[in-house]
Amino acid sequence: MNAVIENLNGAAVPAAPAASVKSMEKTALENNKLHKRLCRLVGQAIGDFNMIEDGDKVMVCLSGGKDSYALLDILMTLRERAPINFEIVAVNLDQKQPGFPEHILPSYLTELGVAFHIENQDTYSIVKRLIPEGKTTCSLCSRLRRGILYRVADELGATKIALGHHRDDILETFFLNMFFGGKLKGMPAKLVSDDGKHVVIRPMAYVKEEDSERYAAVKGFPIIPCNLCGSQENLQRKHIKALMRDWEKKFPGRVESIFSALSTVVPSHLMDRELFGFADIKADGVANPLGDIAFDEEPCATPTAAFGTIPLQPQ
Ligand code: SF4
Repeated sequence: MNAVIENLNGAAVPAAPAASVKSMEKTALENNKLHKRLCRLVGQAIGDFNMIEDGDKVMVCLSGGKDSYALLDILMTLRERAPINFEIVAVNLDQKQPGFPEHILPSYLTELGVAFHIENQDTYSIVKRLIPEGKTTCSLCSRLRRGILYRVADELGATKIALGHHRDDILETFFLNMFFGGKLKGMPAKLVSDDGKHVVIRPMAYVKEEDSERYAAVKGFPIIPCNLCGSQENLQRKHIKALMRDWEKKFPGRVESIFSALSTVVPSHLMDRELFGFADIKADGVANPLGDIAFDEEPCATPTAAFGTIPLQPQ
C-alpha cells in the first residue's frame, strides 16, 4: 500500500515510491556536484589568469547559447562569494536574424535581476548583401559582431569582455590551427583584443562542454537556436568535435591530457626559434634532467595502451 503524506496545503497525497525518492535525491546530489564543479573550475581559471580584479566591470557576452548562459550564471554565483567587488553587465547583440526570439533574453535577464543591454544591429542584412549566396558568411559576420561588441564595451565602461568559450572550444581551435594553419595556437584564456583596447577573458576555459550542456539542461536555460542565420557550422570544427568525442569514449583521459599539455609547454623540445634561443646554446657542464637524452626515447612519446595510436579521422 502506498504511504499517504500531506502536501504544502495540508491535502493528503500519495507519497512517491521509495525508489523514485532515492533517484530524485541522487539527481539532486549530482546536480549540486555539477554546480560546485563549475564554480570551482571557473573560479580556478579566473584565479590562474587573474581574469577579474577589484573594481572591474565585466561585460558578459550572451548569445543565448548554453555556454554563455552558464558563464553568466556561474559568474553571478562567484560574485556573491568573491572577496573583491566587481560588476556584471550582460550584453546581447540582436543581429536581426529572421526568427530571432527577441523577447527571450530581456525577460530572462530581468527576472535574473542582472544589469543588461541589448544591442540591436542588423548585421544579418549587411552579410546577406555583401556575401554571394552559397559562400560562408561567418567571417564577415563575426568581424562585424566583434567591432560592435568592442564599441558597446566602451560605451558601457566595461573593463573586461567575458566570452563563454569552454575547454572543448579551445581544443578544437588548437587542432584546427595545427591541422590547417600550421600553428601551435589555441584560444587564449585572457588576451588583449585585436584593437588593443580591451581585455578579453574566457572564464569557462577549464569547463568541459558536456558539463556546460548538462548544466544548461538542469537549469532549463531558454536556449536560442544558433542556426537562425542559415549558415552551416564549420565542417572541419564539426569533424574535430566528433574526433574528440570518439577519443574520449575509447581512451578516457586523452582529451584531458592534451588540454593539460597546453599549459605545460617545453619550448626547447619544439622548433620555434623565436621561443627558444637554439642558435646561442652552449654546454655549461651542469646536469639538467630537461636536457637532451640522446638515443633514449622521451618517456611520454611512446604510445601507451591507454592512449593507443592517434587516428586523424573519427572511426
Ligand atoms: S553562424 Fe551565422 S550568426 Fe554565427 S557567425 Fe556564422 S553567420 Fe554569423
